[in-house]
Amino acid sequence: MKGKKRDMQRSKAYAAERLCLGITSQPMMRFMDLSIWLRGIGKKYNVDVFVKDGRGRRKPSCGWYPTSRGIEAIIKIPRFARNKIIAMHELAHAIARDDPIHGRKWANTFLMLVKKHVGYHEWAVLRSCMKGCRVKWITHNAPKSQVLRKEEGGLVWE
Ligand SMILES: [Zn+2]
Repeated sequence: MKGKKRDMQRSKAYAAERLCLGITSQPMMRFMDLSIWLRGIGKKYNVDVFVKDGRGRRKPSCGWYPTSRGIEAIIKIPRFARNKIIAMHELAHAIARDDPIHGRKWANTFLMLVKKHVGYHEWAVLRSCMKGCRVKWITHNAPKSQVLRKEEGGLVWE
């Protein structure tokens, strides 16, 4: 993530997500359950996800950190944010690696993850909330699973 372009869709994306959460009323998950669930889904897309409890944070986050095992996505998710939709929002950052971070590729990945791993109803609600809040997403060349390839000196996303 270069962060050069302004993250124009950020507030629209948050507004759409809040609306969707209000309509679908997602149950809160226990940290361990959420952590295991999220790691399992990350594996399907070749993303190594570590989940931290995000204690003291006002917002959940997703970042990339080099570890002895390579580069890992670390998702920090405070107690109030422990539901499947917010978890998919953060995982979409790790999979899409979009720039700006709430760009069209991220939005498309978020929708895809919610449809596949949360439910059709949640997907349909999120999609219409995104439309209503004017969040844009790519509708072609949808990112499927990405391949993390080991190369000299690092890891490369394909
Ligand atoms: Zn985000």
